[in-house]
Amino acid sequence: MSIEVKNITKFYEQQKALDNVSFSIKKGEIVGFLGPNGAGKSTMMKIITGFVNASEGDVLVSNFNIETTKIDAQKNIGYLPEHNPLYLEMYVKEYLLFNAGIHKVSKNEVDKIIVKVGLQPEAHKKINQLSKGYRQRVGLAAALLHNPEVLILDEPTTGLDPNQLVEIRNLIKEIGKDKTVLFSTHIMQEVEAICDRVILINKGKIIADKKLNELRGNQ
Ligand code: ADP
Ligand code: ADP
Repeated sequence: MSIEVKNITKFYEQQKALDNVSFSIKKGEIVGFLGPNGAGKSTMMKIITGFVNASEGDVLVSNFNIETTKIDAQKNIGYLPEHNPLYLEMYVKEYLLFNAGIHKVSKNEVDKIIVKVGLQPEAHKKINQLSKGYRQRVGLAAALLHNPEVLILDEPTTGLDPNQLVEIRNLIKEIGKDKTVLFSTHIMQEVEAICDRVILINKGKIIADKKLNELRGNQ
């Protein structure tokens, strides 16, 4: 398994944001994490990526426990947060080279990633000159630099215009061919467009975990 979430509960003070959540994702799957705002999607993703600790339960990423072997686990994770804190005054390539330095990845790899995510026409611009769709590509490029097995994408298509939406969907599908992807959204069409399995979450609980065709059959 690429991702194993076992009995995760998370309290923020008295509020239970996640209630005994379990699921696992096999290598190579693209899975949609669907639920309304406040359902617990971002919290679950922050726990999987090691930015927030669970109150109870365990998460394994590529068989590494995210709390007890965080560095090894994080080497296998690329994360695109919902509100990605990009350095707006940096040039695209400069920003990616800076990230490559952090991960000890070669400059050559930066050029390859720029091509892979379709950033060539914008690579010499400042991030603050880019549209939302191209900013998402910068975030995806940064998440992919260290060639992780697992990609965690928090609402990657929210707020995109229709053209950008189609392009980013296609890009996620393309990238997902040789990665394990968990992406969150509150829009069913996004799940239908991108993946074949969906995990539904509401009020901190998993309410369905199905292949898309099974889900349709039950409606
Ligand atoms: P989603 O990503 O599905 O919108 P979140 O994981 O952001 O859901 O939030 C789940 C619940 O936890 C919400 O009720 C939210 O207000 C609450 N929450 C999230 N982060 C915090 C925090 N840092 N402190 C307190 N409550 C939080
Ligand atoms: P993100 O995409 O990183 O989850 P959000 O806009 O959901 O960003 O939240 C911004 C910050 O506020 C996060 O650190 C989140 O944990 C926190 N937060 C979200 N909901 C609440 C809440 N109800 N009470 C306190 N903090 C919250």
